[in-house]
Amino acid sequence: MARRLRVMRTVPALRRAVELFRKKRETIALVPTMGALHAGHLELVRQARRRAERVVVSIFVNPAQFAPHEDFGTYPRTWGSDIKALNDAKVELVWAPSAQVMYPEGFATRIAPEGPAKAGLEDKFRPHFFGGVATVVAKLFTQCRPDFAMFGQKDYQQLRVVTQMAKDLDLAVKVIGVPTLREKDGLALSSRNVYLSAGERANAPLLHRVLKASAERIKKDEKIEDVLDVGRRQIDLSGFTLDYFEARHAETLAPIASRKDGPVRLLVAARIGKTRLIDNIGV
Ligand code: AMP
Repeated sequence: MARRLRVMRTVPALRRAVELFRKKRETIALVPTMGALHAGHLELVRQARRRAERVVVSIFVNPAQFAPHEDFGTYPRTWGSDIKALNDAKVELVWAPSAQVMYPEGFATRIAPEGPAKAGLEDKFRPHFFGGVATVVAKLFTQCRPDFAMFGQKDYQQLRVVTQMAKDLDLAVKVIGVPTLREKDGLALSSRNVYLSAGERANAPLLHRVLKASAERIKKDEKIEDVLDVGRRQIDLSGFTLDYFEARHAETLAPIASRKDGPVRLLVAARIGKTRLIDNIGV
């Protein structure tokens, strides 16, 4: 059956469409995005398509997860090409509420995630961030009632926070982490890569190179703290301002000193020029 992409902009319209899917016992996979879609987002859509009969993509630049000094106003918005890409990917529903629809006058409830949301990584540099993410994702889950929700491993702490929230709130959704899609030179695809100048773009893959080399050395049983020290120095010396380069338990995000203590994830955040890049890798 040929399917046409429909854009929903109000909660009642979305609910009607979702109810129709559910009445027919069709499974739903949700792909939450902030638009400015690239191949990484489309990989999430592809994985969604494999799991569920209906794919809903949300496009919402969530003001609640930006601090006043951050890039909410200038965040790339590419509506026309986003819709074309989603149509080509055979997505049936786009959920694109306005901020007014998502947070109407009098809105007064907020999710306050802890555990992985307080790991001392992104939260240390963006203290407002995971409260904003958890609140909007909880709303997206109750609005779209998905069986599956696709999140990129690119935003690894976010993936852990959302997974924990779904578990803690007994939400009937399975959160799926999708591996990071990269450029040929290793740079993780990101909507914010458009901010990079040509010189910064050429330098940016260093982060992935350091992650990969560090993971290899840890696998060879070099001491984690020594490996991190070398990596931090390399990043510092390569024109980045380092926010963090850390080894954490891949599930709890607690600090981890040795591979014997559980699965290790290396996570990095660094600024180059005015762009902040994050990336991570499993060991
Ligand atoms: P964003 O629009 O940046 O909020 O991202 C929406 C979703 O796409 C999040 O779950 C991200 O983790 C995911 N994502 C972003 N970049 C990539 C990438 N390079 N590979 C895979 N998933 C990604």
